[in-house]
Amino acid sequence: MPLLLVLLLLLPLPAEAWNAAGHRLVAALAWQEMQPQTRERVSALLRQHPDHARWLKRQQEPHDPAYGVFQEASTWPDEIRSDPRFHDADEPPTPLLPGFPNMLRQTHWHYRDEPGVRSEGEIDTRLEWLARELASGRAAGQVYALPWLLHLVADLHQPLHTGGRGDRGGNDFEIENPFNPKKPFMSLHAYWDDLPGPPWLRGKYLDEPLRRLAALERAPQGDVALWLEESREWLARQVYPDTPGTLLPLVTPEFHRRAQAIADARLAAAGRRLGRWLDQLLGPVPRAAGSR
Ligand SMILES: [Zn+2]
Repeated sequence: MPLLLVLLLLLPLPAEAWNAAGHRLVAALAWQEMQPQTRERVSALLRQHPDHARWLKRQQEPHDPAYGVFQEASTWPDEIRSDPRFHDADEPPTPLLPGFPNMLRQTHWHYRDEPGVRSEGEIDTRLEWLARELASGRAAGQVYALPWLLHLVADLHQPLHTGGRGDRGGNDFEIENPFNPKKPFMSLHAYWDDLPGPPWLRGKYLDEPLRRLAALERAPQGDVALWLEESREWLARQVYPDTPGTLLPLVTPEFHRRAQAIADARLAAAGRRLGRWLDQLLGPVPRAAGSR
């Protein structure tokens, strides 16, 4: 194997933000928050998505399969990173799926770097664009935008998706984590992504974490700019461990408790805000008189 290829394979994979369990939790909370009419509208849109059959097969919701499908759709933007039907910007285009504007993986949509850095990331401006697509009433645009919007509202609430310390959102910042004996050394970004729980959680296994999140105090609704600002405030204060370990900064029991509490608060806020936003964008009474 050529040396360059070996080196490339050794590079860490790009971070995906909250793992799949985190995204399903945010979607589940949003579902609980939404009005019944909004649930029907999002479900009708997801039924038109080319990957609906996959989501339906994978979901394990014992009650309403539409609720399970809604959760599965929220992890879709991470899954297309390794899906051969899609391509990166420097690769040749792949055949279009019906209704899709292009088949780009858009990995730069998931984050924005810290202020002062020339960033390719565009999570905040992209979310505004997706919201306009969703409110437009044009079915193809809505079907394409919905899984992205579900996903990026959650990502925006992960502090390390809004900057870091010049370390690609904590991806290049290694820590020592005694709370994961299988993987005691990991990037700070991966540590935060996995705080919601094991990534396989779905169906009834989400009930208990959902109850924990639903019991938390409600955050004000705000908007994309506020959610970004809040993530950056956490980033500046409490996201990096500052206790030295044997080799690397150490996750102490106190840091771990605090990080878990911050992650819970961010997931709960993301879920409720997403639900309300979807009510506004798709609810029974359109806010702006449109071309619907
Ligand atoms: Zn993401």
